[in-house]
Amino acid sequence: MDGDLSDMSIQVAVNGYGTIGKRVADAVTLQPDMELIGVAKTRPNHEAELAIDKGYPLYAAIEERIELFDDAGLELAGTVDELVAAADVVVDACPSGIGAENKSLYEEHDTPALYQGGEDADLVDTSFNARGNFADAIGADHVRVVSCNTTGLSRLLAPLEEEYGVEKARVTLVRRGGDPAQSGRGPINDILPNPVSLPSHHGPDVNTIFPELAIDTLGLKVPATLMHTHSVNVTLEASPDADAVADLLDEQARTFLIPESSDIDGAGALKEFSMDRGRPRGDIWENCIWRESVSMEGSDLYLFQAIHQESDVVPENVDAIRAVSGAADSETSIERTNETMAIGF
Ligand code: NAD
Repeated sequence: MDGDLSDMSIQVAVNGYGTIGKRVADAVTLQPDMELIGVAKTRPNHEAELAIDKGYPLYAAIEERIELFDDAGLELAGTVDELVAAADVVVDACPSGIGAENKSLYEEHDTPALYQGGEDADLVDTSFNARGNFADAIGADHVRVVSCNTTGLSRLLAPLEEEYGVEKARVTLVRRGGDPAQSGRGPINDILPNPVSLPSHHGPDVNTIFPELAIDTLGLKVPATLMHTHSVNVTLEASPDADAVADLLDEQARTFLIPESSDIDGAGALKEFSMDRGRPRGDIWENCIWRESVSMEGSDLYLFQAIHQESDVVPENVDAIRAVSGAADSETSIERTNETMAIGF
């Protein structure tokens, strides 16, 4: 299963070429064992132009809109139906709820599909996080890559559970109101408990990856677009010292332990750091954990981490493509994805 990955060529389609879809498409083109055979869009906007400029075959997601692409001078390679038929795996990165509507299309062509975190967990055979439960998705037909926040929590909780045991996790998620281009989202000048009642959906969502894990989550929404921030308390079944926990987290494949010396005090500085290092779109695929925040009080672990909502799920989608194709095991896939995307600061 984990032979020479470059001998394979998994034909990948991306349906929904927006915030997540365009990043996944780019990441797929970096994989020696995958080929991006096309992306589907509903409208001929600047992102459709980007796909053409990058040389990605562009398909119409809605047949009745083909004329709009013609009018905009954008050449189509066909319709989404043809794209899905030709694909070994389709990554659905449509807005929340549209993935569910698309499921029958993927079933018609017997094409395994990945969905994103905005879809319900019961739409799929399994939810997915590469560090958490890669094996559950091997050979599955319908897989949901969990949301940005759940991805960040799963990456954090997996090593803690394995190394020390987790008695109970309590997390307050301070969530960005919208992505930078989502001008219609808010709040503009407020701090909203969201939802007001407990739990927020994040705890139950983490349980789609770790069914037995005890976790309570609270959510807020704030007027920010850059990243989410998690305030984390985990009661462990052991009392390691804080340095040992920080080292364990540092060893993980998709974490960045922010050093005290870096003077990175928040999401703004993190984005600047990422852009200075030439990351595409200023993306930050790793959980960003402030090393100084990692503290132990008895068996209680405390820390802060920031999560870049637009990009942390991208390497997870790449790994999920390999999982459903049965192309690699977790370790091989994570290593290959990290290497090709140059993950790790
Ligand atoms: P987006 O709105 O940026 O992109 C969605 C794209 O799909 C748009 O280009 C839209 O035009 C297109 N589209 C709409 N209907 C379509 C259809 N029927 N067929 C094909 N394309 C269609 O959305 P996004 O932020 O990329 O979110 C996509 C999914 O990823 C959602 O489930 C979301 O919950 C999840 N997600 C988003 C983020 C984030 O922060 N943006 C993070 C993690 C997961």
